[in-house]
Amino acid sequence: MALIVQKFGGTSVANAERLRNVARIITDTYKQGNSVVAVLSAQGDTTDDLIEKAKEINPNPSKREMDMLLSTGEQISCSLCAMAIEGMGYPVVSLTGWQAGFRTNSGYGNARIKRVLTDRVRDELENKRRIVIVTGFQGINKYDDITTLGRGGSDTSAVALAAALNADLCQIYTDVDGVYTADPRLVPSAHKLEEITYDEMLELATLGAQVLHNRSVEMAKRYNVKLEVLSSFSGKPGTKVKEVVKTMEESHISGVAKDKNIARLALVGLEDTPGIAFKIFSLLAKNNVNVDIILQSIGRSDTKDISFTVAKNDMELAQKLLEDNRDSIQFDHIDVSDNIAKVSIVGAGMINSPGVAAAMFEALFNAGININMISTSEIKVSVLVHISDADRAVQVIHERFYDEFEAAR
Ligand code: ASP
Ligand code: MG
Repeated sequence: MALIVQKFGGTSVANAERLRNVARIITDTYKQGNSVVAVLSAQGDTTDDLIEKAKEINPNPSKREMDMLLSTGEQISCSLCAMAIEGMGYPVVSLTGWQAGFRTNSGYGNARIKRVLTDRVRDELENKRRIVIVTGFQGINKYDDITTLGRGGSDTSAVALAAALNADLCQIYTDVDGVYTADPRLVPSAHKLEEITYDEMLELATLGAQVLHNRSVEMAKRYNVKLEVLSSFSGKPGTKVKEVVKTMEESHISGVAKDKNIARLALVGLEDTPGIAFKIFSLLAKNNVNVDIILQSIGRSDTKDISFTVAKNDMELAQKLLEDNRDSIQFDHIDVSDNIAKVSIVGAGMINSPGVAAAMFEALFNAGININMISTSEIKVSVLVHISDADRAVQVIHERFYDEFEAAR
């Protein structure tokens, strides 16, 4: 008998029929003798609709009241799911985030889980032998106020609960049947991965392959929670996320992903003296602007340029901060562009295969796609390209790595 945490996303619980389908998956798992905890998201677009409702009343509501409102979406899906399971004749209880022991910091709207007190859930599972349905995305802070974990946070609720309960498995049910080598809507030949490492999944999650909330992957890695991503519709096996995976020698990468949600800033004509980079990036860090790729040009006649990328919605803030500090940083001008995208290949195996980056650049060259910036890590190579080239870049890179390999098999 195993303890299994199952998480169901918004599309999986969108209406009565789908909720009954989810109830069937949960009770099938329970019937096999397992203890089951299910963490649910709000139905369909409920959370977006609630945000709209708030705006109608007050364009600037406090974050505390927003969390009070947004947490209700998950209460609806969970109580309905519990009713479906009751109707099937199984013992079940639904719990809100605070009843299930989620304690967070006080950061309304984007709270971090500090601990999960599992007494209640354990009692329900072990002594009452009930199926436990838990609202995702929420907890309470030290003032006993409801907090939410940030959009998409139910994945993180599920993983945190799995870690706290020392569960045998955490299954993330969604509307795709696993993690693919590229977005299947863009690359029809993309295929599902049987397994992927936490680190690869983390890179893909951050790169906008929106399968899992990236904080949930970080947490799964830290607490060694066995994850599986699978579809609530297809009934097929999904993708397992774990520490090490058996990799195929021939294919050193596990996925190609793009991120269009970035912007590039270039500081042109900086003085070529020590301390400039420190000034720029400590200023940005102090103001919570995350910087991704950084490129510094070779100095010429006492000046140099530094370019870097930030998330698109930080672009204006970053530009303003730099302009406001022009006196201390001293530069000629700032060049800003959000017509760019980051395209990356990710693979734990690439550290041992030096030709991978070259193969990626070759594919882009053959397609006539210009590279603006490059960055590499042990398991990732990213390039910046013009936004209009991004989709095609993903396609030609995927073709270069997978179709040739497929043909050779
Ligand atoms: N319902 C929340 C959202 O839409 C949390 C989640 O779905 O994970 O962001
Ligand atoms: Mg959602």
